[in-house]
Amino acid sequence: MQVAKSVTVKVSPKINMNKFLQLRDFYNRCQAIARFYHSYILENSLHEKLINEITARDLKNILHQELYKQVRETFDVGSQTVQEIRDVVVEAFNSWAKLYKKWLDGEIEHEPSLPRIVEFTVRMNIPRVCSIFEHGKEFPFFFKVKVDNNSRIVIPVECGEYQRGLLKDALERKYKLGAVQLVRRGGWFYFVVVVKKEVEVKQSDTVVGVDIGLRYQATVVVLHKNGKISDVEFVKYRRLLDRIRYLWKRIDYLKSKLPEGQRTSKQIRRLWRKIHRINTWIAHNVSKRIVEKARANNAMIAIENLNNFKPRKGKRGKKMNRKLSNWIHGRIRDFVLYKAHWRGIYVKIVLPNGTSKRCHICGAVGYRHGVLFKCKHGYTSNADFNASCNIALRAKFPKSWGIVNMPVGTTHKATRFNEW
Ligand SMILES: [Zn+2]
Repeated sequence: MQVAKSVTVKVSPKINMNKFLQLRDFYNRCQAIARFYHSYILENSLHEKLINEITARDLKNILHQELYKQVRETFDVGSQTVQEIRDVVVEAFNSWAKLYKKWLDGEIEHEPSLPRIVEFTVRMNIPRVCSIFEHGKEFPFFFKVKVDNNSRIVIPVECGEYQRGLLKDALERKYKLGAVQLVRRGGWFYFVVVVKKEVEVKQSDTVVGVDIGLRYQATVVVLHKNGKISDVEFVKYRRLLDRIRYLWKRIDYLKSKLPEGQRTSKQIRRLWRKIHRINTWIAHNVSKRIVEKARANNAMIAIENLNNFKPRKGKRGKKMNRKLSNWIHGRIRDFVLYKAHWRGIYVKIVLPNGTSKRCHICGAVGYRHGVLFKCKHGYTSNADFNASCNIALRAKFPKSWGIVNMPVGTTHKATRFNEW
């Protein structure tokens, strides 16, 4: 299968001012073109036609016929750049139209909102609009960008060692280069490069089982072919989670103070970005540990599909916990998938029902008592540990319960499942 990774590099702050202004001007012109297409579509209700009259391809053709010449003359950009921008705008409307259709069919609950163009992705074709090369020792790479019909500017960038390695390999054709995007964050510019490669994803007899939760962001076990469990690890970032909870409460408070009809504010958006960063950091680190463990054991990974998180009745903040749990879960799972596939590690997504209710040794239904899971045969273990064992088992035996050997030091008469 083909896997992709995106590499972000920063435009060097040592860039000469004139070049920087040229780059910014190019970026702004691209934004203007995007807005131009965007409003043309809305004014002529072309987005409505996209729902069931015309295809995305038709829309691209219409825009090309109607606006191409005008755009090129007005904005002085190359033809490839115009096409890329047009395509990105059309794709945004097309995904809106797909969602809208689903909404009409009753498949989704909320009416999707039309794409808004506040800040737009500037996608550049390699090699026609942008090329990458190494030169000298001061900067790892240079990006050469065609900013208008006649000129290209050479932009020095900075990046970490890991990113440097990936891009270097891509330039040496170990990976394929996809598109390059120019993005603006916090008033500065970055290039995002997509690198792709073919990998063979292999199944394995050893399974790394992962349970994702709030007490431990991940409980990881390795289940071997002989039924033995090893390498139990509890990964937690409790302080960061508390920080997210705090920021969330703060947002709720700020929302309650907003004037009628206003849904967000600059301050709220800033807090959201903070939460987002923390969540990404957690997901990045947790997924890294999981994938490293799978690699060290030559194993595949088993992870739950969606969280079966059920808040206990009468507990305060259960809505928030649920939201938090699902959110953390989704992000960790996405990161695990992407990092594992990049390394050719197979990931099995298992159904979550029952994984925290059954005993991983005998398969009987038990109950949770705080942090503990208690099996009716008297076996007690950490509840998250029990769940992750079950998840690992599911990957190999989707229909069986409780066939794991006992961890050393527990006394328990193992009975087979099937009694429930
Ligand atoms: Zn049991």
